Amino acid sequence: MARSPQRLHCVGDILPESSTLTNRYSLRIPQRLYDAMLAQAVAELPNECCGLLAGQMEQGVGHVTLQLPLVNAVASPREFTADPTSLLAADKAMRSAGVEMLAIYHSHPTSEAIPSKTDLARNYHGDNMMNLIISLKSGQPEVHAWWLTATDYVPAEWKCDTEL
Ligand SMILES: [Zn+2]
Repeated sequence: MARSPQRLHCVGDILPESSTLTNRYSLRIPQRLYDAMLAQAVAELPNECCGLLAGQMEQGVGHVTLQLPLVNAVASPREFTADPTSLLAADKAMRSAGVEMLAIYHSHPTSEAIPSKTDLARNYHGDNMMNLIISLKSGQPEVHAWWLTATDYVPAEWKCDTEL
C-alpha cells in the first residue's frame, strides 16, 4: 500500500552505537514543525532560508516545540546570515515560551545537505549546537543534521516524529 507523501520525507538519521561519543544530544521534531520548516525552505527559493528549532531538553533528547523562521539578511542562494532583528524576535519568543534553542537550520537550494566550507568557517553557534541542513537539490527535500567544528563535521542524530 502506498504511503502518504508527507510520511515519505519525514525521516531522520539514526547513528550506530559507536557514534555515541560524538552525539551530544538527539533531536525529535514533530511532523507539523518539520513540514513547516520544509515549506519555508521551498517558499524562500531561490535563496537559502534559515531558522531555529527550540524546545525542552530531557535526558539527552531535545524535544522540539517551536519552529522559528529567521530572515536571511543576505538573501543569497549560496549563503545565509541571520538578520539581527529576526534573531531578537526569536530570542524573545523562546524566552516567553520558556524553551531553549536546540538547533539552527538552513537550506541548500542547489547542493547536498552537507555543511559547506562557509558553514564551517562561520559556525555561528559553536560546537555544541545541532545544525540541520535542508537540501532542495532534487524534487524531494532531503534533511541531515550535523555537529560542526571549524574544520570538520560529524552526523547528528535526529528523528521526525509523526506521532506528535
Ligand atoms: Zn550551508
